[in-house]
Amino acid sequence: MRLVMLGPPGAGKGTQAVRLAAHFRCGHVSTGDIFREHVANETPLGRTAQGYMDAGDLVPDEVVIAMVTERLAEDGCANGFVLDGFPRTVGQAEALDEWLESAGTPLDAALFFEIDEEELFRRLAGRSAALHRSDDREQTIRHRLEVFAAKTRPLVDHYEQRDLLQRVDSIGEVDEVTKRILDGLERRRAPQGVWGAGERGPATAPGGEAKPSVSPR
Ligand code: AMP
Repeated sequence: MRLVMLGPPGAGKGTQAVRLAAHFRCGHVSTGDIFREHVANETPLGRTAQGYMDAGDLVPDEVVIAMVTERLAEDGCANGFVLDGFPRTVGQAEALDEWLESAGTPLDAALFFEIDEEELFRRLAGRSAALHRSDDREQTIRHRLEVFAAKTRPLVDHYEQRDLLQRVDSIGEVDEVTKRILDGLERRRAPQGVWGAGERGPATAPGGEAKPSVSPR
């Protein structure tokens, strides 16, 4: 399974990405997590990224694209991947399209997490208090939402035109949202009824009792 997760900060992409990667036994690539790790380890990449992150801005495309394509070529992504936080610009999406085409491994879907702004604010303010993330301060949150609207939202069209967009209603219990995603993916795959060549199927049969990461109601 090869998925990208699109949506504003706080929409729940990260939580669902971890569950989906476990379910499909594939790699989970979170660009935000990779950057935070580099910042914590004070690497040159971390020093480059930190200023952008603290301001709620995007790290330049060339830096992110090089980092992600390197990660996608690693063993952990041989059975597919869930890309969490990438792509975030049209330039990144085009670079990903090119990379996937040359690797002969097309995307299965782009999940777009839909959520209203009021709910987002509530979530991000809670996360700011709980995790002390420096980019979750109110002013920075606003800026990140503006950056999302200007730079990332156009990717909805990008993936819609390629018939890859799957909209996800992000309101509700975590399990409920996971079930919505899996049901939607199953509907997309149903016409073929088979998993792609060389792929292993999901860890659990969709619709069946899902363990350990998914427990549909
Ligand atoms: P996240 O945890 O996904 O919200 O990412 C935290 C921060 O890392 C973002 O606000 C950006 O500064 C940076 N970042 C993560 N992914 C990307 C990306 N694909 N392109 C540019 N910057 C990114």
